[in-house]
Amino acid sequence: MMNIKTEELMNATIQDLMIPGDKVAHVQVGNNLQHALLVLTKTGYTAIPVLDPTFKLHGLIGMNLIMDSIFGLERIEFEKLEKMKVEEVMNTNIPRLFLDDTLEVGLDLVVNHPFVCVQNEDHVFEGIFTRRAILKRLKKRVHQPDIG
Ligand code: AMP
Repeated sequence: MMNIKTEELMNATIQDLMIPGDKVAHVQVGNNLQHALLVLTKTGYTAIPVLDPTFKLHGLIGMNLIMDSIFGLERIEFEKLEKMKVEEVMNTNIPRLFLDDTLEVGLDLVVNHPFVCVQNEDHVFEGIFTRRAILKRLKKRVHQPDIG
């Protein structure tokens, strides 16, 4: 049995807790791996969304995927960074959340993913939902007195 405050918390929506899209670093379909590597390195993020010009979400690109794609049999093929596009390497099999999903739904997903992309019904990217956002909200909850 959840008490009232915890239930209220779990029913908060993803929209209330997400980082909005305009604050999320991303790359575009058509960008090469060198550009993606630059953005990842400069921001310090491990993975970022891949969007198209209409802001539709296509997948995620991360440092590990880029490095894996340039490892040849005998050497690291750095020249591939310029030749290959993010869409050749990105992960398209990703979980997605909707704006009106509850925190409870999001909580299940961030057990296995450090962050999850949020989209609307037209697949347009709205933002990301991170473990950090959940932990911050839970920390606040822990310090609140219980009622009900
Ligand atoms: P955090 O929970 O803040 O440690 O973020 C976990 C992961 O979410 C980071 O490594 C990034 O892959 C992604 N992330 C968090 N904030 C942003 C952002 N503003 N832009 C792009 N990716 C982000």
